[in-house]
Amino acid sequence: MKLKKIKNKNPDLLIVGAGPVGCVIAERAAKIKKWSSLIVEKRNHIAGNCYDEINKKGLRIHKYGPHYMRFKKKRIFNYVSKFTKWIKGNYIVKSYVKGQLYPIPINLNTIEKFFNKKFQNKNQARKFIETLKIKKKKIKNSEDYILSKLGKEIYENFYKNYTIKQWGIHPRNLNKSVVGRLPIRFNRNPYYVNQKLKVMPKKGYTNLFKNMTKDKKIEILLDTSYEKIKKNIKPNLATIYTGPPDVFFNFKYGRLDWRSLDFKFKTYKKEKVQECVQINFPNENKFTRKVEIKHVTKQKSKFSTISYEFPKSKGDPYYPINNKKNTNLFKKYKKLIGKLEKENIYFEGRLASYRYLNMDEVIEAALNLFKRLKIKYG
Ligand code: FAD
Ligand code: UDP
Repeated sequence: MKLKKIKNKNPDLLIVGAGPVGCVIAERAAKIKKWSSLIVEKRNHIAGNCYDEINKKGLRIHKYGPHYMRFKKKRIFNYVSKFTKWIKGNYIVKSYVKGQLYPIPINLNTIEKFFNKKFQNKNQARKFIETLKIKKKKIKNSEDYILSKLGKEIYENFYKNYTIKQWGIHPRNLNKSVVGRLPIRFNRNPYYVNQKLKVMPKKGYTNLFKNMTKDKKIEILLDTSYEKIKKNIKPNLATIYTGPPDVFFNFKYGRLDWRSLDFKFKTYKKEKVQECVQINFPNENKFTRKVEIKHVTKQKSKFSTISYEFPKSKGDPYYPINNKKNTNLFKKYKKLIGKLEKENIYFEGRLASYRYLNMDEVIEAALNLFKRLKIKYG
């Protein structure tokens, strides 16, 4: 590593990772405290897994899977709105089962179409589903969760094989929160997520995070891993680490498992290829879903790009795996992480906290961490 490349060898903060967490901390530090930050990023771009780019046909693609921005809290939305204009984000997802497309999350329309019935109201549908539910004394895993809420037919057609494909693990061996992410509805709400605040950055995520880090106090070094510079850069105040914990501790207690994905992009000479942004394939094909992001970026073009997602166990860490083995292992690392705060090293983000967190949640966590740093280093 040529340290000459680094302008500020003595930053107030050393930030590992230029994903949402790294960018938010650097922005707040510069704006509120005039602290300087050096962000080191091992990839050749900023924005972490939210990174998007324009392909050869001029289409914006989400390189690491579709990112559907939604906000649980107006306060977080207001903060991010300083760095981008928005367009609406009405995300519609369908599932391909037995040759037909059904709304996902499961809603009243899905239930009616799948069971070939008509219900006058929610209660009638609930009563019908009640007859299918498999009662469980204790909900121990993802299989119990769906069987007890929707019964065997829906579980087997919409959830079981998708989950096996996505995680490489049977739903019986996954925490109930894995499938519990997906709402279950008895109304006709067709949207993928429950939040009312659903928006897409007008010029994309990379542009959003570029705007966020446009400050002389922030230096970003791409293609640079923490491991390469850590001996030479000693920050005045603190180090913020947003990478995987097991890597930081040199796998002291063993490796945490992650689920990864291969994305295959294919561009078609067609304005639109499919009827909605995402189609899930629980039972057919090796890929889990087909995404036509143009439905939400709203670009106008005679071409359209589809991404196919193939789950795999090796590769970039995308999804923490929520089962007993990893929960217990992470607990051990968490103890070490807690102790490091005394040495002014902080862990935050989806990788560092080994949690399945959405963008609004990690941005909130970063803002909270900044508040703590402000108090400590005032
Ligand atoms: P990341 O975005 O992972 O950024 C961490 C960065 O740190 C990376 O760029 C990495 O290269 C870098 N890094 C790690 N270790 C080192 C090191 N040692 N040295 C230097 N650099 C390092 N969220 C939503 O809200 N809506 C969605 O629809 C959505 N869809 C998703 C789909 C997929 C397939 C995935 C994987 C995630 C999705 N997310 C979604 C989650 C979203 O991507 C995360 O919440 C967000 O990116 C987390 O930000 P972060 O800063 O914690 O981590
Ligand atoms: N899931 C499923 N069938 C679907 C969609 C989701 O079984 O059609 C399960 C699967 O286990 C998945 C989890 O629900 O990992 C959460 O789904 P979500 O769509 O939120 O996953 P993400 O978009 O985060 O990959």
